Formats: sequence, C-alpha cells, structure tokens
Amino acid sequence: MHPSADLVFAPLGGAGEIGMNLAIYGFGDEHRRQWIAVDFGVAFADDALPGIDLIMPDIRYLMEERHNLLGLVLTHAHEDHFGALLDLWPRLKLPVYATPFTAALIKAKREGEPGAPDIPLNIVPLGGRFTLGPFDIELVSMAHSIPESNGLIIRTPAGTVLHTGDWKIDPTPLVGAATDEAKLRALGNEGCLALIGDSTNAFRDGRSPSETDVAACLAELIRVAPARVAVTTFASNVARLCAVARAAAACEREVVIIGRAMERIAQVARETGYLDGIQDFRSVEVYGHLPPDKVVALCTGSQGEPRAALSRIAQDDHPEVAFSRGDRVIFSSRAIPGNEKAVTRVINGLVAQGIEVITDRTHLVHVSGHPRIQELRDMIGWVRPQILIPVHGEPLHMSEHAEVARRAGIDKVVLCRDGELIRLAPGAPGKIDEVPAGRLYRDGSLIVSAEERTVADRRRLGFAGMVSVALAVSERGDLSCEPQVRLIGVPEIDGLGQRIEEIAYDAAVEAFESMPRGRRCDPEAVAEAIRGAVRAALGAAWSKKPTCHVHVLEV
Ligand SMILES: [Zn+2]
Ligand SMILES: [Zn+2]
Repeated sequence: MHPSADLVFAPLGGAGEIGMNLAIYGFGDEHRRQWIAVDFGVAFADDALPGIDLIMPDIRYLMEERHNLLGLVLTHAHEDHFGALLDLWPRLKLPVYATPFTAALIKAKREGEPGAPDIPLNIVPLGGRFTLGPFDIELVSMAHSIPESNGLIIRTPAGTVLHTGDWKIDPTPLVGAATDEAKLRALGNEGCLALIGDSTNAFRDGRSPSETDVAACLAELIRVAPARVAVTTFASNVARLCAVARAAAACEREVVIIGRAMERIAQVARETGYLDGIQDFRSVEVYGHLPPDKVVALCTGSQGEPRAALSRIAQDDHPEVAFSRGDRVIFSSRAIPGNEKAVTRVINGLVAQGIEVITDRTHLVHVSGHPRIQELRDMIGWVRPQILIPVHGEPLHMSEHAEVARRAGIDKVVLCRDGELIRLAPGAPGKIDEVPAGRLYRDGSLIVSAEERTVADRRRLGFAGMVSVALAVSERGDLSCEPQVRLIGVPEIDGLGQRIEEIAYDAAVEAFESMPRGRRCDPEAVAEAIRGAVRAALGAAWSKKPTCHVHVLEV
C-alpha cells in the first residue's frame, strides 16, 4: 500500500434526505484516487417543486472523475437506489453491477421507456464477490421490502467497510433471503473498519414485525370480506403480492393486477422465480366478469399518485374497474413523508362512496423494510465496526442513528452530509474536503440543475401570477399606440371596485411619461421603470406583487 494512500467515502445523495441515494468510495493518494459508486437513486418532488417529477443527485463530480471511476454497484431495485440510472448513465457510461432481480427490473423499465439507453449489466449472483481495482466487493443478503437487497462488504488495503444498503432483520421474510447473520458475524470476526448504514427507522423502538405477521393479518381480512377486496401496496413488494395471492387462493378468489408498475414487477418476479407456486394473476379485463366475492384486486396507487389505478378508482374514473358500497380497500403501505395529503385525498374519495378502508393505523397490514433500534443494535453487535456513519435519512434520522451507535459503545461516529468527503483510514476518521454535490430535476423530458431559476420562477407565478405590458416607442420617444396590458393569474377587480388591468395600465403610462424624453429611447430603462411602477401599484391595490414582463418595441 502506498504510504499516502487513504480510504475515503462521500455521500452525493441520501445523507440529509430520504431518497436519491448515491455514495462513492475512493482509494489511493489524493491525486490518484480510484472510485466506485454505490446506487443511483431518485427522490420524489412534492408541491414545493411545481412541475418537477423527480429529483436526482448532481453527478458533476463523477463526470470530472470519470477516468478514475471503476463501476457502479446497485444494492437493490427501489427507486431511491436505482431510479436515476436510465437518465444519468449515458453521462458516465460506466460498468454497472447488479443481482438478477435488479437487473431484470432495469431491463423491464428500459423496455417501457422508448429511447432509454441499453446499459450493459454485469450480473452478480446473491452473495457473490468481485473485484474492481483495489476494491474487493462481496454481497451480503439483507431482508428488506423488495427481493434481493444487498449489503456490500468492501475490502481494501486500508480496511473493510460494510455499506448496509436498506435492510431489516426478518427471519421469515416470506420471499427471498433473510439477512445473512452468519456472514455479518464472520465480518465482525475478520474486523470491520466502518459501517455505513440505513437510518430510516432509527427513532423507532424495538424490532420490526415480520412479513409473515402481515401476511396472516391480510389473509384474515380477505377471508372475512363480504364483497370485493382491493389491496394497494408498493408495486415492488413481491412478498406482499405473494401474501395477497396466497390469501386469495385460500378463499377461492382470483387475483387481478391493476396498474402498469405492478404488472411489470409481477412479470419480473415470475421470470426470476419469486412467484413460484403462486397462481397466475388475471389481467384487468376479466375484473368485471368475476363475482364480487371471487376477486381480489391488487392495485398501484398506495402513495395517492393521481394517475395510478387506485386514485382513478376513488374518483370513479377507471375505464374497467369500479368499487361499490360494501367493498373493502386495504392500504398495505404507509405514506412516504410528503405524500400524506395525496393519500388522505384517495381515502376520502373511497370512504365517500361507502367503501370500507383499512390502514395500518388499526391493523398489522404493513411493516417497514428498515431496521428499528434493536435491529440496529444487533447489527452493531455482529459487525463490531470501529467507525459508524449514519446515512439514508434526514438529519434527524441520522442523528438518532448516531445516538444508538454511541450507546452501543461505538466511539467513532461521524455525521456527514451530501458532498462531504470523509477519510476512513488511516488516522482518525473525519471530514477532509468537500466535493461538488447538489440536485438535478427531471422537468418534462429534460434534466435541469436545481440551481436554475425555472422552478423558483414557477413558484412565484403560482403565488402571484403575471402582468404583461407591451408598448411601442417611436424614435422621438413617443408612444406609437396604446400600450397593451394582460393579466395572468391576477384578480380582475380590487377592493375599491377598480379594474386591476386599468391600475396597471395607468401606472405603466405614468411611469413612461415621467421619464425624460432621451431616456425613453432606451428600451431597458423603459422596461425597468414600468416594471417597478406596475409592481408597486399592484402591491398597493392587492398586497401582492406579481411578476411583471414588459415588452418594448422600437418603431
Ligand atoms: Zn429500499
Ligand atoms: Zn432506500
């Protein structure tokens, strides 16, 4: 090992927010580091970002370091870990490593997006081991809420890191492998320098219930249902799809899949063997022909997504599917922070139609896929890392995770945020530098920087609308015709009954005429004066200042 070689870690996303996970590990001396990237996730935008669908980590730094970047390893196929791959991979064209289920989902997703890149995938078996430059990477199976979640044991000449990915401890996960406790204990015996781990549920006491407990509850709720039953869940939760399918089979109901995302996952799960022994799902066309007590609908839309199946059903706007009074809808899910209002809207839509809605507030119909405090303590006990770095959380989650680690006897706990470069070895761990990090937005079909003004402009327009003023000015500095004023998203009449369009018009003309004749031939100066006057006049009339756009024509 080169005397000045160090092992570093930096989160480029996911440390400070839930979502858009992207971590990098580097080894080498400061000027010749080689890198691997772990995960390429998205976060979902809420109403605070009008018109934006998805948020992605800014990969400027990876583009700068492209020639030293050895590969990307995907831990699992949740959107917050692999959702940015199709959009961002063409900028890096780096080798990608994934397990079979994740790889199959990438292919299925690509087929659904015309023009998406054909990414060559290196498929790694579960528990597999491979080498990228100085990094010796071994997968360790973790129970989670999707098949094939993997932790990464990353061995380097400077020490070994466990990057947990998303995990929980569930000895009976229903589908897929349980968390590989033996391998984690062996890592503890071998010696683990640092654990970089999931903080999502670090403020919840105890242990998560098992998927098997949820399956039992769902089976009972489906068995006693008098009429139709619909279950909505995260499409990628294959264990939940199995639980519903088995419960349906036990009371001779057919399972109809409603929603494209779920059809896609079901197909991939079928191809990769995760639905072996489960009856075939029926397509949505047969829904109307099945008697109410012979059907269970599995629907997308558990997050209140307005275009998903359940939202459309709740608004009685689905072409093939309707529910009616006495039917039962089970939310086998929990609203991701930011989606609560949308979910409540869907629930209210259903309840207003006389449909019974069951959620995890009253029944064990959902469990999270992330570790609670006792599970975090178990992991620390198995692996016994020297250093612990909380990631995958907002600052609150990460500081709670840090507290759990300190109480478990870890004295080197490092809190970090996106873009901070942390040295893990040699020497005391801590921040040594900052690297470029930030956010990208998917805006329609474009990827734009969050630093651009677009979204801020859109928010301003949403709050106070816009006034547009057009005027033609002659060479001598006279108005050549009547200025034109248009209001967009601005009230028509003020509190005194005056037309706001006229207020804007008067302010514009007055501002123009009070300018010295010489200045009136400078379009920039004219626009500036009118903008200021119109905004001030509307501020007085309305207590809000809209965006004002002035168009000056020289004639
Ligand atoms: Zn996950
Ligand atoms: Zn995650």
